[in-house]
Amino acid sequence: MSDEDTSRIGPPAVGATILGYPRIGPNRELKAALEGYWRGDLAVEDLAAATRELRSATWSRLDDAGLDSVPSNTHSLYDHVLDTTDMLGAVPPRFAALDLSDLDTYFAMARGHGDAPPLELTKWFDTNYHYLVPEIGPDTPISLAGDKPVAEYREARDLGLDTRPVVLGPVTYLLLAARAPEAPEGFHPVDRLDDVLTAYVDLLERLAVEGAAWVQLDEPAFVADRSDGELAALEHAYRVLAQPARRPALLVAGYYGDLGPALGTLAASPVEAIALDLVEGAVPGDRSDHGTVGGLADKTVVTGVVDGRNVWRTDPERALGQLERVGALAGATAVGTASPLLHVPHDVTREAHLPHELRQRLAFADQKLAEVVELADAHRQGRRGETSAADPAPRGDEDVRRRVAALTPEDARRAPYETRAVAQRRRLALPALPTTTIGSFPQTREIRQARAAHRAGRQSEEEYAQAMRDEVARVVELQESLELDVLVHGEPERNDMVQYFAEQLSGYAATEHGWVQSFGTSCVRPPILHDDVVRDAPMTVGWATYAQSLTDRPMKGMLTGPVTMLAWSFVRDDQPLADTARQVALAVRDEARDLEAAGIGVIQVDEPALRELLPLRAAERPAYLEWAVEAFRLATSGVGDATQIHTHMCYAEFGDVLDAIDALDADVTSVEAARSRMAVVDELDEIAFEREIGPGVYDIHSPRVPTAEEMEELLRLGLQRIPAERLWVNPDCGLKTRDYDEVEPALARMVDAARRLR
Ligand code: GLN
Ligand code: ZN
Repeated sequence: MSDEDTSRIGPPAVGATILGYPRIGPNRELKAALEGYWRGDLAVEDLAAATRELRSATWSRLDDAGLDSVPSNTHSLYDHVLDTTDMLGAVPPRFAALDLSDLDTYFAMARGHGDAPPLELTKWFDTNYHYLVPEIGPDTPISLAGDKPVAEYREARDLGLDTRPVVLGPVTYLLLAARAPEAPEGFHPVDRLDDVLTAYVDLLERLAVEGAAWVQLDEPAFVADRSDGELAALEHAYRVLAQPARRPALLVAGYYGDLGPALGTLAASPVEAIALDLVEGAVPGDRSDHGTVGGLADKTVVTGVVDGRNVWRTDPERALGQLERVGALAGATAVGTASPLLHVPHDVTREAHLPHELRQRLAFADQKLAEVVELADAHRQGRRGETSAADPAPRGDEDVRRRVAALTPEDARRAPYETRAVAQRRRLALPALPTTTIGSFPQTREIRQARAAHRAGRQSEEEYAQAMRDEVARVVELQESLELDVLVHGEPERNDMVQYFAEQLSGYAATEHGWVQSFGTSCVRPPILHDDVVRDAPMTVGWATYAQSLTDRPMKGMLTGPVTMLAWSFVRDDQPLADTARQVALAVRDEARDLEAAGIGVIQVDEPALRELLPLRAAERPAYLEWAVEAFRLATSGVGDATQIHTHMCYAEFGDVLDAIDALDADVTSVEAARSRMAVVDELDEIAFEREIGPGVYDIHSPRVPTAEEMEELLRLGLQRIPAERLWVNPDCGLKTRDYDEVEPALARMVDAARRLR
């Protein structure tokens, strides 16, 4: 049971550890430093000093908490996938040509520079983190060009700490990469595996020379479905990486789910240790696809029993039970987090405003450190059952539970689309190619200042509300002058499309300092859904009716859908997500009915995150899509035929969820499409999608103002598949991050493009 039992003279025991830690800093120090540098207010040496300080504070914190093995190289100036690209010198030609310093080349890849667009940013597995997609072609330079893991190891050692460098694994790196634009059709980045392995072998040798006993290589790509060829690549990679005579011991981590068949592959490989996610995955041998796990008898298994991406305390009984079962199979057992702690905030003790009963149920990164250490102690001493008392239960709400229990399929069904379409046409009388926007208008400095002043108590409730009403009036007037067909109120009162609703629903709590990195310096503060969800009062009706009172054109009510409300929150894990989704859906449903009763005839329920929660393994997808679609339909089926339901989706390729989008049964679906040149229109047409769609014609992620001709051309592409009565004209997404200088001309040209084609 104890790690010292292993007879071979090997590396030191791993003991208690975590796979990674938040990088942004308890007070978002990294964000401040980077933005200072980008603005030109902070010299490069000061940026270096600030990040060094942050690293040393992190290492001390981890060491003081009592971890046996402290990870290093978990810091990043922007993104750890970009760090790997940088380490391998795999810089695409458009950045190499800029002739910038190494650091500024790095930032150019992250943020673009002049005419060189940045690397594409995309979702990191099924988390809310986003990484920069490497571009790999047959001629991309690949070698050990950077030494960040070595430098950080040395930096920690100089502070007296022997750390375990964490590096993205070579196979996952290549599986996450895109084919470089200049590469031939049949090329796949994994074709460059041997070159990447050569660089990693060099890295391992350098780490060994410095004295590193362990290195952690992350291979989360293997918790998703993988082909036999990809499993063979994994097998090959770790055979090669194990070969050097002088190298650190290898810990391969697979997280965000179960390794499935890759577990057997790794168990049979010469690596010294494997880290398993036992929050979302199973104990080795429990799944039929694990294969032979006998090879674990001479390996260390870092047993991930502490959830790395949700905020609930660990159930010690469950964790110790899992540790015992793994202990029976493994050569040595270490206690770890299931995944890196990148996805949780730093410290719950700072959330003094949260009710005590809730705080007792929560563990952020620093509390999780303590849990890992305590569990490792308890496991070593064979203690069970005498750990702290059970967490307080959620209070619950009888009414909403009764309502959910009484739901029938009828509650998620509207009249046939043809019937609705007739009623809506009569009521709205819109032209062909109707124009609209996705909801938000630019969040100006004045709006943000007013919100800050209000939050700080410097502006009264009434002053703040008046400022927002004035803003709504401005936005409505602008849309009237642009002659848009369906207007919006502009969402000035919303800090964030999820948090805004979470603040008004009981069962949700907001944090004060709970920042989590989304990408680069961009952080979010996900609310915590901790109890039954209840809408105490209408949430948006006042804004929508005020906006409608200012115009004769239809005003679109704007709500966030149940799936997105869950995807961008920390959600209770004591009941199935489907049950929680139904509660949120009922709140949205009540709001939609109140909007309808107040005279709002068009209601948009945004579900940008529908694709995000899609499970990594195909076998788990149908069950997810079933509850996700049902929740949306429940939210939108309470209104009458003449009320037009819109939905909106973005940030994703929709290939995997087209049927689900169809099944949502929304009357109008707007989707991001400008950059892909309306590809989604063809895809939807292929599944015989028959309702109205609004493929975005204006890429709002770019400050560029498109010409009317460009938008007209995109619309013509759309019209090849979709008749004008069913094709809407709108931007790709909300306008909140843009400036009015861009938005006004862009919308004017968009309306112009529609008019020319009518
Ligand atoms: N209605 C929201 C807005 O316009 C939608 C945002 C989103 O899709 N992410 O801002
Ligand atoms: Zn969007």
